[in-house]
Amino acid sequence: MENLNPFKQPGQWYRGNTHSHSTESDGRIPMDERFAAYREAGYNFLVLTDHRKVNDVSAYSAENFLAISGSEVHPDNPYGGSVFHIVGINLRERINCAELHPNDVLAEIKAQGGEAVLCHPYWCGHTIRDYEQLNGYFAVEVYNDTCMVGIGKGFSEQAWDDVLDRIGPVYGIAADDAHGTEHDCFHAWVMVKAAELTIDAIMDAFRSGAFYSTLGPEIVDLDLVGDSARDRKVIVKCSPAQSIIFKAQCSTGRRIVAPEGESLTEAEYPVPSAAKYVRVEIVDEEGKKAWSNPFFL
Ligand SMILES: [Zn+2]
Ligand SMILES: [Zn+2]
Repeated sequence: MENLNPFKQPGQWYRGNTHSHSTESDGRIPMDERFAAYREAGYNFLVLTDHRKVNDVSAYSAENFLAISGSEVHPDNPYGGSVFHIVGINLRERINCAELHPNDVLAEIKAQGGEAVLCHPYWCGHTIRDYEQLNGYFAVEVYNDTCMVGIGKGFSEQAWDDVLDRIGPVYGIAADDAHGTEHDCFHAWVMVKAAELTIDAIMDAFRSGAFYSTLGPEIVDLDLVGDSARDRKVIVKCSPAQSIIFKAQCSTGRRIVAPEGESLTEAEYPVPSAAKYVRVEIVDEEGKKAWSNPFFL
């Protein structure tokens, strides 16, 4: 997996949501209203991911706003757990997921020029047993807003870390999974660093990890410095935070808490030489989080 640090890449930041539904499946508003709502809320792109469908969304792109076609597909799970929820970003044709093995679904997403996200693991009850045989996804949904507002199972940090610890490099994505018009909209998004606002540039940025996920906090700068494994450190700057957490595999990491009545806007972490990856979480005083992608070491 490529390991580009978006904070050291040229380009611009674009705000987007990778998971949403319309009345073409179980969403409450039609496609045109879904895209208009995100455009008016200041987003630069929205991926429409109706269940088991790929819609033609080309009419909904506008100045400074990209409509991207996708799908949420549901292949049967041969590994014992519940059915898969996999979002394909940038698809052209419907995938007949009912008849395909999940790995064939993942391969088909790539064959169409798309990229796959394993969705809301906590809500699905999915664990490493459901994921260890899968190939070809680029991200795990670390946060899903409709799963949060529905039953309080929005955070899937452990599932993301299990994949990082036990399988290998994978990115994290926070998404609304918008079905309604307010309660599950505009709460979780990605900030993507891309050369320009085109589907190709956004997909390149996704593939190279040039994005971070947030419920509100802003990551201002992030860097991995040091020449050797012995003197490496991760430095982060962010909007005012109550805590900043550096996470590596298993019990490796550090949580830094602001002194009483104060806030943090930067922190650094000397990376243990045995660390396989380091990722950063920012938590603001309302408990809202942001997640960097990992540095893979
Ligand atoms: Zn789903
Ligand atoms: Zn969904």
